[in-house]
This record gives sequence, C-alpha cells and structure tokens, in this order.
Amino acid sequence: MIPRSGSGCPVKAEIVKEFTFEAAHHLPEVGPDHKCSRVHGHLFKVEVAVEGEVDPVLGWVMDFGDLAVVSRQVIGELDHRVLNVLPGLANPTSENLARYLFDRLAARVAGVSAVTVHESPTSRCTWRPVRPVAPATTEVRITVGGLLFSAAHLLVLPPAIREPIHGHDYRMTMVVTLAPGVPGDIDGVLRSCAEAVAAELDHRFVLAGRPAVGRLEERGDSFALVVGDETVTLPRMDCVVLDVGNTTTEALAAWAAARIAARPEIAALRATRVEVTLVESLDASARAEATVG
Ligand SMILES: [Zn+2]
Ligand SMILES: [Zn+2]
Repeated sequence: MIPRSGSGCPVKAEIVKEFTFEAAHHLPEVGPDHKCSRVHGHLFKVEVAVEGEVDPVLGWVMDFGDLAVVSRQVIGELDHRVLNVLPGLANPTSENLARYLFDRLAARVAGVSAVTVHESPTSRCTWRPVRPVAPATTEVRITVGGLLFSAAHLLVLPPAIREPIHGHDYRMTMVVTLAPGVPGDIDGVLRSCAEAVAAELDHRFVLAGRPAVGRLEERGDSFALVVGDETVTLPRMDCVVLDVGNTTTEALAAWAAARIAARPEIAALRATRVEVTLVESLDASARAEATVG
C-alpha cells in the first residue's frame, strides 16, 4: 500500500482559460464628445471560468481542451467584426460583452461561473452572477499571496496516454475566512501554514496516488507508473504521492486547500474556509475551497 498524502474531501474548484479576439466597436450612448463614440478597435482578451466538482478519477473539473473548443466557437463569432451590428450588442461596452459571452457560454458549457472581458491591458469587466454569501460583518477574509513552488508531473488520460514529464512554476494565493477579532499574528500564522504546504510539493515530482489511467507500484527505491505498455520509473526520494487521480491544476489546488484547512493552527484561528488559487501557466489556473473542521 503506497502511502498517499490525503486531502480530505475537496469541495469545488474553478478553472480559467484565456482567449483573444479583435473587433471594432463604438459606444452609441456616450455623446459625440466622448472618444469612444468614434469607431475604433481593440484586441479583447476573454477569461472563461468554470466551477464544479473535481472528478475523483480524472482529477479535473473539465478538460481545458473541451472548454477551448466551445469557447473558441462562441468567441470566434466576434472576431474581426463590428460588434455594434450583432444582435444584442448595440451598445458593446465591456460589461455588455462579458454578459453576452457569459449567456452564450453558459448555455453550452455546464458550470460557467464568470466571464471577464479585457478591453485593454488596464481595463476589464467580470460578469459573475451573484451567489448568496454570509453577511460581511460576521467574517473576515485574509489573503496570503506570493506563494511559489516548482514541481514536475505528468497527466494520464484515457485510454492509455500520458504526457511527457515536465514541470511548472506554480504561483499560489490563499484566502482564509475567519471570525473577526481573533487575537495574535494571524497573517504570520496563515503564511507559515501555506508555505509549509507549498514546501511539501516544491522541487518534487508530484505523483497521483490512484492514477486515473494505469497504476502506481512501489519497486524498491523507485515508483513505477505503468500506463499501457509503458513503465515510467521515478526515484522514490524525489516524489510526493498525493491522494488524487491526476495532478491537474484543480486537483492540486483542492489538495492544497484541504491540506491547509486540516492544519491545527487553522482550526485554532476559528477559520471556516480555505480557498486556494493556483496558476500553472499563462493560460491555466484553478481555484478550490475546503471547509475547516
Ligand atoms: Zn472601445
Ligand atoms: Zn503540466
């Protein structure tokens, strides 16, 4: 029995994928003196977020590839167009564009949770339907950012495919929800908890303990990942084995959130929720949350 670093039961994760399109528009409601009343164009960047349960076998909310296919179809309909002539976009502000894309994407992809439209490198709008949240007066949220770890991994995919071994510089941000008025150096305690969990993965080969495809075996000083006809052998001392089906960004975020939530210092702070956002690469990130206790 290979010891696997457990994470409890993660709840949900949110993945984000980015796209671009180029289009012309003008804003008909701003008056003739406003520069945006004139026809001009932008390189728009669009972020599509999808929230859902992490599949216990595949270790992902959904395939980034599947999200890309649908998103490129929907967003591609705006590319190299004058947006104002499209039905529903007579006034194509970033806000209206984000809502327009959200409605169309949500109709085709389950779990679309937000769409962000960047009109320029410094101007953007996020359309995210409001979800009920606890009143702000009963809790505070503390963010700890700038957490880094570098790790190697590979994904296994049906029927018997594996990625080449590669690595990422992961960037991690943690948000902890807790009751107001807890005494002590809360920021310091939270940061040391998050750093300790990131350190577990830093400069390691991160292995899925119950791989979605194939199997993981112990062979002396090595782990052997058997996928189809192939065996990938890894030095045991370089590896950390997580109780996940695949080392996707969302599975790692969910593992880290639950791992941090399980630490006694977090319970001692009367924290209720730990959220972890993990950025794997320029166009892939995921957010996951775990309940404390
Ligand atoms: Zn504009
Ligand atoms: Zn990767």
